[in-house]
Amino acid sequence: MKIHEYQARELLAGHGIPVPPSVVIDSVDAASGAYRQTAGEDGAAAVVKAQVHAGGRGKAGFVKLVRSAEEATQAARFMLTNRMVSPQTGPEGLEVRRLLVGKAVEIEHEFYVAMTTDRRSRRNVLIASREGGVEIEQVAHDRPEAILKEAIDPHLGLQAYQARRMAFALGLKGKQVGQGVAIMQALARVYVERDCSLAEINPLVLTPASGAHPDGQLLAIDAKFNFDDNALFRQREVAGMFDPTEENPSEMRAHKFGLSYIALDGNIGCLVNGAGLAMATMDVVKLCGGDPANFLDVGGSASEEAVTEAFSIILGDPRVRGVLVNIFGGIMRCDVIAQGIINAAAKHKNADGSTGFKVPLVVRLEGTNVEAGRRLLAEAKGKLPTLEAATDLGDAAKKVCAAVGG
Ligand code: GDP
Ligand code: MN
Repeated sequence: MKIHEYQARELLAGHGIPVPPSVVIDSVDAASGAYRQTAGEDGAAAVVKAQVHAGGRGKAGFVKLVRSAEEATQAARFMLTNRMVSPQTGPEGLEVRRLLVGKAVEIEHEFYVAMTTDRRSRRNVLIASREGGVEIEQVAHDRPEAILKEAIDPHLGLQAYQARRMAFALGLKGKQVGQGVAIMQALARVYVERDCSLAEINPLVLTPASGAHPDGQLLAIDAKFNFDDNALFRQREVAGMFDPTEENPSEMRAHKFGLSYIALDGNIGCLVNGAGLAMATMDVVKLCGGDPANFLDVGGSASEEAVTEAFSIILGDPRVRGVLVNIFGGIMRCDVIAQGIINAAAKHKNADGSTGFKVPLVVRLEGTNVEAGRRLLAEAKGKLPTLEAATDLGDAAKKVCAAVGG
């Protein structure tokens, strides 16, 4: 699960990591008030930032420095009325519903600091770089040696000497060292305490020296968190930050019915029981030259309603030109699937107002109650004119690929 930057800032602040003051708004009208609240009088700098579950906002024009209430309003209007397209969004971009308006800070230097889990060493790892900011992906690609790592012992956590070693490696000086160590240790703590899979501050900025901070101050001005979904049951506060409007609507619908659905780019809808079989089905479709429109695991014991819903989700995707049903009945009974198919056909409305499936439907059933399932489908043949039965997975994949012209 992901959260917005404004939520990430709250989490960091709650763990003692300094972040500049900010407010969240959801209308153009609120921008001037938010500017005055965070920046003060015209002339002072504020930053207006789109709140979406994707990065690359700066380069896309969705992070803007403004110096007046008027500029803040213009930036807000632009961001709330245009979709944001970045390398992390896909070509259709994302709708922006909320903005963060924050006090802008002067930047002396931008660092990168993150916690994640390294599967190879089976350790949580602190990652940092002196070359933080919007080019971090490029730096990691071109000069991996500029990315520094500290593996963390699971029993001991991030040790002070490790954080100090990192602070020195980053080139921190004087009072910056203590600030950097405190921030890294807090980040390591929040990562474990909140069951994160990623906790990233980019950039962690160093401000110029001032009276209050003779060596400058380290501040987090952007942060990104990913959480382990399997731990959300014990992370009430984190789960409460979930924003369904940032999720794929079909995936959300599927989730409500206990279906695992992931939208893909192809044109062959797949309805399968079991994640392994679903993966194998997609592989065989690919092998036959086809392209799956989705991954869909209806699970071990889906109800007729869930199967009906699954069809409705698959056929709701306008790119779908054919559907492959591949069921190996174990706990799942083939007659339940067959009835689900028949119900879905009766319920499915086409654009011209007619009901029933228009696209080719290739069905391979095997396992528990397969005879009953086949009988149901045979009896309903009039209602399922595009249905074609297949003998095994290879046969099914060939038939559906041929049907969609793949
Ligand atoms: P991202 O592009 O989605 O990662 O958004 P960020 O919040 O990281 O902002 C992108 C870049 O905008 C940062 O790397 C900074 O260079 C700049 N930026 C963001 N906030 C401020 C600010 O308060 N002051 C200044 N001077 N620059 C900022
Ligand atoms: Mn950033």
